[in-house]
Amino acid sequence: MRRIIFIGPPGAGKGTQAARIRDRYGIPWISTGDMLREAIAAQTPTGEKARTCVEAGDLVPDDVVVSLVMERLTRPDCADGFLLDGFPRTVAQAEALDTASGNGPIDSVILLEVPSETLFERLAGRARDEGRADDTETTIRNRLLVYEKETAPVVDYYRKKRGLVVTVDGVGAVDEVTARLQAVLD
Ligand code: ADP
Repeated sequence: MRRIIFIGPPGAGKGTQAARIRDRYGIPWISTGDMLREAIAAQTPTGEKARTCVEAGDLVPDDVVVSLVMERLTRPDCADGFLLDGFPRTVAQAEALDTASGNGPIDSVILLEVPSETLFERLAGRARDEGRADDTETTIRNRLLVYEKETAPVVDYYRKKRGLVVTVDGVGAVDEVTARLQAVLD
C-alpha cells in the first residue's frame, strides 16, 4: 500500500517527480494545484471560489480544498494508494486528512528540499517558459512566504505525530532526484 504525500516549497520539482512516481508505481497523482486550475478554467463553483486566491499566490480556503481532495480520494483508483502533491498545505488540512479514515493512514511523507535561491530561479524560469498566471515575481515571493508560514508547520506535524517524514535532496538533474526518490520508495 502506497499512500504518499509530497511536500516541499513551490519550485521544488514536486510535479515533475510526481509524474514519474505515478508511472513507476501505478498510483494516481493528485495535484491540488492542477485540480484548482482545471476548476478555474471550467468556471465551476469551486473554480470561482479559488480563482482570486490562486492568482495572488495565496492559499485557497481549507474547506474548498479539503472537499475537493476528499471527493477525489473516494474514487476507485485510489484504493491501492495515491500520491498527494500540494496537499495538505496547512495543519488544518493535515488534520482533516487524518480524520477522514476511509483511505487509512499515510505511509510516507516525502519532503523535497531545495534552497530558496534555487527555488526563485526555477520559478522565474518557469514563468518565462510557461506563463502560468501565478508565476509573476510578486506572486512567486508570496508563495514562498506562504510556504514558510503555512506549509512548513505541516512537516513538523508529521514529524511529531507520526515520524513519517523522509527528506530527499531536490537539487540536481531530474533523473538523479528520481533515483533518490525510488531509493526511498522501493
Ligand atoms: P506551487 O507548488 O508551484 O505553488 P501548485 O500548483 O501546487 O503550485 O499550487 C498553485 C496554487 O493553488 C497555490 O498557490 C494555491 O493558491 C492553490 N493551492 C494548491 N493546493 C492548495 C492547498 N492544498 N490549499 C490551498 N491552496 C492550494
